Order: sequence, then structure tokens, then C-alpha cells
Amino acid sequence: MNDKDRKHFEKRLLEEREKILKDLGRFGENFKKNLKESSGDLSSYSFHMADMGSDVENQEKAFQHVSKEGRLLYHIDEALRRLYKDKNFGTCQSCGNPIGKARLDAVPHARLCIDCKSKEENAR
Ligand SMILES: [Zn+2]
Repeated sequence: MNDKDRKHFEKRLLEEREKILKDLGRFGENFKKNLKESSGDLSSYSFHMADMGSDVENQEKAFQHVSKEGRLLYHIDEALRRLYKDKNFGTCQSCGNPIGKARLDAVPHARLCIDCKSKEENAR
């Protein structure tokens, strides 16, 4: 992997990172807004009880979304660390072979080559 590739994947990772942070920020805003709207007025609270089922479902979905994004953010930060600090970005963390640019283009935060990845998934 040369400097040009490294720059390319650095840009991809930073773009992904920004997208997630924006997304999570938006979730935070909505969450605050919902809290404000639901607090205080008890009559409106009981009025909304009929909708509770779908609310809980939505919250569940939102939570799953956020934890998925959070995990992705972690993997992206790890990839950036490998890029800047460990200098082993693009190397499979399991077998040490190059991950391959095509795979990194699709999944810039990949830490395993496609072989090790499918092995890991089969082991589950
Ligand atoms: Zn591997």
C-alpha cells in the first residue's frame, strides 16, 4: 500500500466517521425533543398511552440503530489508528496477508481479509 492508497482510505474513513457522527447527533437531538415533549403534562402522557406500543418498538429500533452505528464508529477509529499509528492498515489482523484494495474500498474499516472473515462468520 503506497501513500496515495493510504490517503484515499484515510479520506474514506473520515467521511464515514463524519456521516455516523452526524447521524448520532441527529438521534441525540430527537431524543432530547421527545423527552421534553413527553415530560410535564400527565394528561397528555395518558392520552399517548394508546400509542405506547409503537413508541416502544420505535425506541427499540432507534436503540439498535445507535448501537450499530456506535460499533461501526469504533471499528472506523480502530482502522484510523492502524493507518496513523500501527502502520498496518490493510493487513489482515488474523493471517497477516493484505486485505485487498477492492475489499477495503467496499469496507474501509475491514480488519480481516475475506478468507478470515468468512472463517470467523462460519465459526459463529
Ligand atoms: Zn486473513
